[in-house]
Amino acid sequence: MIIESDLKLDFKDVLIRPKRSTLRSRSAVDVTRGFRFLHSGSEWSGFPLIAANMDVIGTMGMARALAGFGAMTALHKHYRAEDLAAFFAEEASANAFYSMGTTEADYEKYEAVRRQVPVTRICLDVANGYTELFVDFVQRVREGNPEAVIMAGNVVTGDMTEALVLAGADIVKVGIGPGSVCTTRKMTGVGYPQLSAIIECADAAHGLKGWVCADGGCTVPGDVSKAYGAGADWVMLGGMLAGHDECEGDIRYEEREGERVPVAMTFYGMSSDTAMRKYAGGVARYRASEGKTVEVPYRGPVADTMQEIMGGVRSMMTYIGATKLKEVPKRTTFVRVSSQLNTVFGN
Ligand code: 5GP
Repeated sequence: MIIESDLKLDFKDVLIRPKRSTLRSRSAVDVTRGFRFLHSGSEWSGFPLIAANMDVIGTMGMARALAGFGAMTALHKHYRAEDLAAFFAEEASANAFYSMGTTEADYEKYEAVRRQVPVTRICLDVANGYTELFVDFVQRVREGNPEAVIMAGNVVTGDMTEALVLAGADIVKVGIGPGSVCTTRKMTGVGYPQLSAIIECADAAHGLKGWVCADGGCTVPGDVSKAYGAGADWVMLGGMLAGHDECEGDIRYEEREGERVPVAMTFYGMSSDTAMRKYAGGVARYRASEGKTVEVPYRGPVADTMQEIMGGVRSMMTYIGATKLKEVPKRTTFVRVSSQLNTVFGN
């Protein structure tokens, strides 16, 4: 047994120190970024934020709405092949990932879609990206799809980030345990503080000309800013995008002054009892659920939340004097906050 005693940090453990700058207004900053992908050779530019491939969040409605902000969506994997084929013929699909797990059925469904329509962005998603089986799968998908952008994960350490980039991933998805409806840390004791995971994985990926997507743990726009500051090229959000019109969760209504108004919506982890009942007929006997089901307040159209997130990032950039999003990590100095401050302010 080994104990690592290096300090590892989460979003709540730091704040970004303001820096002297010549910027005059928030409108003078550019929150978009351009990328060239190592393996696929293609390019993409936009606001590097991705709606998570959870069935409530990674919906076609979300993809259409977020494309309007230049942001991306990883569609959840439970859509029917024919619906996916129709969607990937739409313009909004330029900002969407086709998500799949690692089973033969997943791959066959993908092939069926790809025979009908080009799919240029693929998200290979497993809870534990540390298995040889997963690395082999990334390699197989890369060999069969040299032109596609492949995002693969999840991992939390530099060694495995490098392994995935070398296997063919253009983007490595980072995060084990930080998700808002994730119970992995509680159920298994496994995880890694997310800010440190981003810093370490970004360093490893960037050394090989790969990119990283910070996945999970953002609860407020400031966390998105901190993720960019730590070196995340993309940030993936689940909970922060829950409760909106574009989601596919069950809505709870209440009677108010004779009117039936939406007040809350369900949101759950993809390995929660709810998801496993819905897609796998229940929780298999050999495994425990590692996700929970919650109700979040109904929040109307996602456009308002996107404005808030982009506004927060823009404001952070003016505080640290970064004209372009790409400059943010270079201009970021994190200051550690004491645990007492955490308790008082909650962040
Ligand atoms: P959030 O933005 O809600 O904090 O995190 C979203 C991320 O949580 C997802 O992209 C995914 O990586 C992770 N996640 C989603 N469902 C589950 C689950 O049931 N269990 C675990 N361990 N993680 C989940």
